Amino acid sequence: MDADHPAAPVGDPAQAAHNIPLAVPHLAGNEWKYVKECLDTGWVSSVGPFVTRFEQMLAQRVGTVEAVATTNGTAALHLAQLVAGHQANEEVLVPALTFIAPANTVRYLGARPVFIDVEPEYWQMDVGRAIEFLDSCLWRNQSLINKETGRRVVSILPVHLLGHPVDMAPLLERARQYKLTVIEDATESLGALYKGVPVGKLGDGACFSFNGNKIITTGGGGMFTSDSTAWCHRARYLSTQAKDDEVEYLHSNVGFNYRLTNVQAALGCAQLERLDLCIAAKRRIAAEYERQLAEVPGIRPMKQAPWAFSTFWLYTVLVDESAYGLSSRDLMRKLAAAGVQTRPLWQPLHLSPAHARSLVLGGEVAENLYRCGLSLPCSVGLALEDVARVAELIRSFHRPAQVAVATELTSG
Ligand SMILES: *Cc1c(COP(=O)(O)O)cnc(C)c1O
Repeated sequence: MDADHPAAPVGDPAQAAHNIPLAVPHLAGNEWKYVKECLDTGWVSSVGPFVTRFEQMLAQRVGTVEAVATTNGTAALHLAQLVAGHQANEEVLVPALTFIAPANTVRYLGARPVFIDVEPEYWQMDVGRAIEFLDSCLWRNQSLINKETGRRVVSILPVHLLGHPVDMAPLLERARQYKLTVIEDATESLGALYKGVPVGKLGDGACFSFNGNKIITTGGGGMFTSDSTAWCHRARYLSTQAKDDEVEYLHSNVGFNYRLTNVQAALGCAQLERLDLCIAAKRRIAAEYERQLAEVPGIRPMKQAPWAFSTFWLYTVLVDESAYGLSSRDLMRKLAAAGVQTRPLWQPLHLSPAHARSLVLGGEVAENLYRCGLSLPCSVGLALEDVARVAELIRSFHRPAQVAVATELTSG
């Protein structure tokens, strides 16, 4: 946004390899000032004023009673499920298409993910399919039992993908009915709204990430949010090795070292002050891509549901090979050769060897999005002229269908 601030530090490896990187941090606010404060005062570790301040700022932004800062989003997901009380061999609903972290954290507890396909419009967990599955289970002694596996279904872990919220209302209704907990993975969607309500405020608990490519970053970092003070206190306790005494090293539980440091929290405070500017920049970039790519055959832009406010965190298009003339991966390679970094979506989790033998409901939509999806450069600091340049390259690589037909005729 500020022309005098580069999108990435000089010497950034992503910047060096590509003239236009996919998504790099934008550190244009009070980052230096706050980090310097940490260094000047010696408060650099996991205790310090910025940790508390960052937690309070984020809780206020999301609208929850409390927030607990963690070393990263994965740790927040792990803590969320510990405080929710998930047990080994219980089942948790996870979308079939997502970055792998939520499924991994289900497994940390010995629980089992049940993969629910995503829907083709907004690419979020297919709520209709999730409900169909829940309704097919057995309701016995106040528990929901998966008929196929005999395991208890205890939780739903919707992931608000790519800056867009999941259609939460029907999920929340069923969760109440069947006494399931709902943990939102909001790591990709800080600032997004569902029917006017911030993501992170919708479930029993939620998780955020401040990894380098997220909308705001602390280098590495995460947050657990909840309206339950009991859950938050438990999460904070478990994140600091479950230390029972202020002075003595007494522990009645097995804890973790998941606490964010003051230096990272200082970055977080500075970044969070500028969140609305970051969201505005992402939405401007998305609108520009949509305008520039509207006429390109076979390129389908990402959409926003009427009930959603999307941050368009990672701007992604679908490439229809037959209409566009190139596959998503061919386009990725051609753009890379022109100095533009792009990236496919995630391998669907039901196809991942890491989660082999997990149950999946559907999966074809996730597979299609994996085949066709391509995320385009969308750093907060990206200039609209660069968006236009990427779009112009995409336009220029399009091969009209008749070329393919002509080749077929001459070769036949
Ligand atoms: C980034 C991300 C995470 C985890 O974040 P880290 O801070 O890298 O641990 C979890 N879930 C999803 C969907 C993510 O995109």
